[in-house]
Amino acid sequence: MIEYEDARKAVFEAARPLGTEDVPLEEAFRRVLAADIVSPRALPSFDNSAMDGYAVRSLDTAAGMVSLCLAGEAPAGTVLSEPVAPGTAVKIMTGAPIPPGADAVIPREDVQEGPEEIVVSWPVASGANIRRSGEDIRKGETALERGAFLNSAAVGFLAALGIAKVSVSLRPAVAAITTGGEIRDVTETLDPGAIYDSNSHVLRAQIASAGAQLSFAGRAADDLGATVAILRDALRTSRVVLTTGGVSMGDYDLVRDAFEAIGARSVFWKVAQKPGMPLAFYVLEGADGPRWLFGLPGNPGAVMILFEEYVRPFLGLLSCRSDFLPEELEVRLSREMKKKKGRLHFLRVKLSMRSGEIWAEETGGQGSGLLRSMVPVHALALIPADAEFLPAATKVKAHRVGW
Ligand code: AMP
Ligand code: MG
Repeated sequence: MIEYEDARKAVFEAARPLGTEDVPLEEAFRRVLAADIVSPRALPSFDNSAMDGYAVRSLDTAAGMVSLCLAGEAPAGTVLSEPVAPGTAVKIMTGAPIPPGADAVIPREDVQEGPEEIVVSWPVASGANIRRSGEDIRKGETALERGAFLNSAAVGFLAALGIAKVSVSLRPAVAAITTGGEIRDVTETLDPGAIYDSNSHVLRAQIASAGAQLSFAGRAADDLGATVAILRDALRTSRVVLTTGGVSMGDYDLVRDAFEAIGARSVFWKVAQKPGMPLAFYVLEGADGPRWLFGLPGNPGAVMILFEEYVRPFLGLLSCRSDFLPEELEVRLSREMKKKKGRLHFLRVKLSMRSGEIWAEETGGQGSGLLRSMVPVHALALIPADAEFLPAATKVKAHRVGW
């Protein structure tokens, strides 16, 4: 049995970067940038109005109450070449370029509008309600750095910059295999003693949210031959194989035998943690590079937690993602906590702010088979292995979950 820190280190050190490819922006969501993006233009690209209103020369309004003659209209998407003459105003819409001569925009609601003139009641400052060219980013600045995970804001930002194609890391191809003679697909009828397969659905969703690709999904009964066969199948299309179940001490726990039968090398089995003690990690060397096998236990709570702590960061490393680690917070425990020494505990918690600090409250039962209390989870609080009793309000580390 090894410590949680050592197990994670071993997993992270085993990672090798995958290659890169160019993809259209439509396919860039949840991918990882393979090269810095230098801004090809300023954003905004031209000074423009932040409001629907009137473009004016601010000096004209210095006296307070004045009337300005209406001299045209500037809808968004049109460029006026005629300068705004002294004593006049141009009706302008949000996003329209500021016409030459004007240096401020008065919002529509701040003026009295007549058919041929507007009346302004107070002075407007130069620059008011103008979004300046380059305010967001200047041409030549680094817009996004290599290693950036492209979230929805990032793809929007790239579109605004006019970037239609990006170089990204290849998506890790990940297989999800469930094992267990008692497991049935959600569409099947349950015979006595059987249960529905939740793990494959949990993993499918977690793999997608990590920006990886589900390359194979399958199920094997607790049979060595069948498990070996399905692993071989999975490895044809997958770099990473996740199995669930069959990795503890039971008579039918054959997954490690199957890993060994296909020639994989054990990096570790069993980690001093709860849930997820029987975690197994194997590497299979091949002519085209290594493949990695995670033997996750069968209980769905353990599967989800181990995915967050080990698999998600590992997939991030394969893609050279710079923020591959879960976001770490310092939180205070709402209740006291008693446990046996020896294993690190992952506690399912919800977070809330009280008097300027983050408090963590358990979401419900912590049994590794329970899924209901996983749903509202914000973070996993880490209760150190050597702790036995933690009074309420003790500070501990917590990892935000990405599911
Ligand atoms: P095992 O590690 O195979 O002993 O499984 C531990 C527990 O997880 C058992 O109660 C299994 O029935 C349960 N389990 C295993 N695989 C799944 C799955 N795919 N979905 C839901 N529960 C599972
Ligand atoms: Mg089993």
